[in-house]
Amino acid sequence: MPRKQWVADLKKAQGDVLPLGVLDVRAGDDDNAFEFDFFDGSLRNPIKITAMILPDLSDYPSSHEYMLFCGDDAPPRLATAISTISGTARKAVFELLDIVSATLTSASTANDSDGDTEMPDSQQDSHNDEDLDVEDGDDVYDSDHEAFGFDGPRDSIPSVSDTNLSRPNSINRHFRARLRQDLRTAKEAGFKVGHLGGLLDGYNSFVTISIRMSKLAISDEALQAWHMASNDYLILIIQYPNGYKTNEELQSCDSLRLAPNLGIRVCTGKKYKPTLQEAIKVFTAAKKQSQRDSVPPAGPPTADEAVEFSLRDTFISRPLNGFLQERLVPILRWRATGMDWRGAESWYAEMVGTSGSKSKLDGIPDRHYVPEELPATLPGIVKADHYGGNHTEYSFPLLAMQFTLRHFVRCTDFCLVCHRQLDTEVEAIKPYVCDEPLCLYQYMTLGFGPSIEHEIITQPYVCDLLVSFCYNSANARKLREFPDGLALMVPPLDLTLYRANATQPDYGRHVPAAKPAEVNKEPKQFAAYEVGFDRDRQEVIFFNVPKECPVRRGTWIVVKEQGSDHLELHCRVDDVTFYPTIAINAPLMISPSKTSADTLTPSAPLTARSTALTPATTPKWAPASFQVYEQDFEELDRVGKCMSIIKLLDTLPNVKSMQEYLAKHKPADLKYWVGRISPAALSLLRWIIASNRACIMQVDGDSTTSQERVHGMKDYMQFRFAMGAPDKEERFLSAVRTTTERLNLQYPTIFAWHGSPLHNWHMIIREGLHYRNADHGRAYGDGVYHAKDAQTSTGYSGRYGYGGQHRDLCHWPHSVLRIESALALNELVNAPAEFQSNNPYYVVQHLDWIQTRYLFVNCKPETDQITIRDDGKLKDIYPQDPQRTPRGISDSVAIPASAIKPRKQVTSNDSRQARERFGSPMKRLKGDGWGNPIVLDDGDGDSDETDAEDVDILFDDPPEGAYSGDNQKGSQKPSQAKGTATDFEPAALDFSSLPLMPQPSYANSAATKRLMKELQSLQKVQNATPLGDLGWYIDVDKVENPYQWIVELHSFHVIDPNLPLVADMKKNAVKSIVMEVRFNKDFPFTPPYVRVIRPQFRSLAQGGGGHVVMGGAMCMQLLTNSGWSSVSSMESVLMQIRLAIASDPPARLVGGRSGDYGMAEAADGYVRACNTHGWTVPPGFKEMAYGGAIGGI
Ligand SMILES: [Zn+2]
Repeated sequence: MPRKQWVADLKKAQGDVLPLGVLDVRAGDDDNAFEFDFFDGSLRNPIKITAMILPDLSDYPSSHEYMLFCGDDAPPRLATAISTISGTARKAVFELLDIVSATLTSASTANDSDGDTEMPDSQQDSHNDEDLDVEDGDDVYDSDHEAFGFDGPRDSIPSVSDTNLSRPNSINRHFRARLRQDLRTAKEAGFKVGHLGGLLDGYNSFVTISIRMSKLAISDEALQAWHMASNDYLILIIQYPNGYKTNEELQSCDSLRLAPNLGIRVCTGKKYKPTLQEAIKVFTAAKKQSQRDSVPPAGPPTADEAVEFSLRDTFISRPLNGFLQERLVPILRWRATGMDWRGAESWYAEMVGTSGSKSKLDGIPDRHYVPEELPATLPGIVKADHYGGNHTEYSFPLLAMQFTLRHFVRCTDFCLVCHRQLDTEVEAIKPYVCDEPLCLYQYMTLGFGPSIEHEIITQPYVCDLLVSFCYNSANARKLREFPDGLALMVPPLDLTLYRANATQPDYGRHVPAAKPAEVNKEPKQFAAYEVGFDRDRQEVIFFNVPKECPVRRGTWIVVKEQGSDHLELHCRVDDVTFYPTIAINAPLMISPSKTSADTLTPSAPLTARSTALTPATTPKWAPASFQVYEQDFEELDRVGKCMSIIKLLDTLPNVKSMQEYLAKHKPADLKYWVGRISPAALSLLRWIIASNRACIMQVDGDSTTSQERVHGMKDYMQFRFAMGAPDKEERFLSAVRTTTERLNLQYPTIFAWHGSPLHNWHMIIREGLHYRNADHGRAYGDGVYHAKDAQTSTGYSGRYGYGGQHRDLCHWPHSVLRIESALALNELVNAPAEFQSNNPYYVVQHLDWIQTRYLFVNCKPETDQITIRDDGKLKDIYPQDPQRTPRGISDSVAIPASAIKPRKQVTSNDSRQARERFGSPMKRLKGDGWGNPIVLDDGDGDSDETDAEDVDILFDDPPEGAYSGDNQKGSQKPSQAKGTATDFEPAALDFSSLPLMPQPSYANSAATKRLMKELQSLQKVQNATPLGDLGWYIDVDKVENPYQWIVELHSFHVIDPNLPLVADMKKNAVKSIVMEVRFNKDFPFTPPYVRVIRPQFRSLAQGGGGHVVMGGAMCMQLLTNSGWSSVSSMESVLMQIRLAIASDPPARLVGGRSGDYGMAEAADGYVRACNTHGWTVPPGFKEMAYGGAIGGI
């Protein structure tokens, strides 16, 4: 797996647009190395750089480190820069390239900036690097930007400006007018627009664009499958870490300079925009996630999350965020040449595939200019295209939102990984990947798919159903798609059994036609080791000892004891220290051959070491043999794959045990159940659940609250069941409406049964209903067959197929449901006379006339754990055509009224209609000179009130001289506007009691300026945000030395009112946690040093926590060289420190008169914490931490 990932990453880097200066990425001479060239204007020739992965590929990408070196021809300053590159641990190939590019670019242009002593107000700055062609926009700074409390220009921060355009745009009227125009354009297009942070002042800030889900014409079924509600907002958050950038400015950035200037996230929430804290958290959390190798994907919100933050990820935020961040701006560049979205997307994809060599305009094939035809059912706001209009300046926020809607609303049309438009007729309610194995691989490994843990916890019987369907399908050799590309290592197949199977004809009439007839390919033979096996001690001994132990801890093996050929013991190797004796985990017993259903013994792990034996018993080695799970799944043919899937599923525990395991363990992740589930079986399970593209919800089972049980199907387990594209419901309703009108129907729809043999359901829930291959023959013509009586359908739907053949088909042995048959209840347009046939079956040829509603399963559960509720009479029944009411198993079918949504109008409100609808109430207009007055209330009944600040920003500046914005003077009272209540009093801290340090000896002008700028930026945020919501406070007026900040953290009740710290602070009358933040000269390339000054916290040993360790130091990887990123803003750092203090295990105060922490004990505590975690202490730390303190020690 690691190797595969490595190869994939390298391949991706080769195909990608490379960061500035990096050229020609290629494989290295060594297996674990790669090479690339670096070139910029300061060099005569490109230099070759080799990156080697240490210790070896097996740790990639979880714990590897890189070693970098360059050829002898490299200039010394670059060689030195390369040798100082750090923080590359666990970085993927392309991330490393970014780091190298950033470091070398700045090394090559800022070579003498360290001792830079230019005049403070000199306009001449470090942008003497013409080769880099830094986009500065206009260089003329008007007087506005000097109206802050600090001297000196805010530009010329040499060490960073080269790579991130850090200089705020010239903050003048022109800048603000353009910004307003961009936001107004987005608002006029029908979206809600918000902003956070110092947007008008050119600081780190956020723009949010949002829209209610209810305006996107997505069916309720799809919303349910996507874990969304119709009153949720879809929110696009655009972060401008260095101030607002226009569309033109962003397009002129290359990929290296884009990343630090633009961040994009797709979220959802109940309010149209998040709070500033939420916005910051969204960006920092995502950064943290990308650093981990495997992340649990975003499921629906947990109760905790929902309470704490109303903002959350959507079901496809993770793939979308990366997609937008990486491709939106490059795609916009191509849109500027006249392509539409699809053309620009496909051309971009094509160019990436050919290493960017085709970038000449005249080489673009015409097909990329062919306009895309959009589905008619899409609402206008999804189809609208700002770039299609005739403007000279485009609003980037609007373009970004339109692109987001395209990929969000139509997510099922695109591959979730490569984002290419899917070329398939299959309609699905959930997005998935294309059939490239690499896409499937990434989908599974990057956690883009649904969380199977969440599915197992909330809907165990649906999981049982999915596995059972797959099992039946594999057993009948009906599977057509397989979990290929996932590098599954499976147990070797029994060749005798394989041969017997391979020669058998396929069950059923239909031979899968997806792929050309395959030639059977006999699987490889694998070594079998002759060993002794002691079942009680769970040990294996090698009699003929191979030179090297053939297994490692964690390897899965299959043991067969001699004389019991029908029994396989699957187990994980637990310990090989005492090789030739190896210890194994409790084995799983599997009966290997399914020649008859009767021989099947449900497997269960043997109970742990038998207690009946005294431990001293001498080993009893039974002669046995074992094989390793070393068959590559992909190398098998179809029959082999089916057999292999059955074997793996035989080893899985049942869903109830998995649910129990997840309830008891934290983190609730099946991959930690190592002794019980093999990696191959787990991957297979993930694939089965993730590849299901229908929406199936439990009605029965453990839930007792649901009211939606259908009457007439006694003892059948019921599921809600929806399939088809998100606009399928719209198309169905539209068909219903036209037929109702045309035929003047009293009952617009009827219900009928669709049954199919169990082995077909795996395919049906992935492909939807269609009639491309008919199992039942087509005696009554082409169409989907529906029965009027459930009894008829069960004849087709049993596990034996029709006619009772193939009695050897059997259950998934661990199914708790033990499904006998399955049938769907579908809703049809009430026009049987127009069906292909209506007697004895309804044969419906128009797929848009059919909508699945329920799935019924006849099961024979072995336990009474499963509740199938009584078939009581319903109170509120959906009225049905009495002539055409279907018969159920036990009675005529009665459907609860609540199950069928009231038929609402199709909402294809295009923007013209929307404008008409919203046209009248112009609530609030201010100023004049608007060409097109816009409507500030979007007429959305229960919609959020737009915040005043978001309304105000849309208005023009008042006339020259009258501007009374908040950027008059640096110091200002923090905003006391409505916000969360807090007892914190700003500016109340007595600075004379603090260990203030003088300007350090290592101070230099570049670092000083950078820190002043950070401080200014924080002050802006502080002034704009209510105290309680912000949670930190800096008394900027009292900062005399920018290398030491005193920060107060407060209002922890906002994070969680139940935190023990909140109570402790109250009890001890402590209003804030006083922290000291120190910076050394290399900031922002090294992290700041952060410690608590007062009050004192309990240590871990005393039952404390919150990442505060002995001496008051903060123990956070973020604050060490191993976790620090030079693009972290101090705002997000403060935010994360506050969250860390509020996280588990909870922080507690010592209480009483504990006094302040000393300087030395904190520094010691920090170094100790770094050593414990293997984090790198930043260079120059001691100088910074101990340096220049007055008092304190
Ligand atoms: Zn793909």
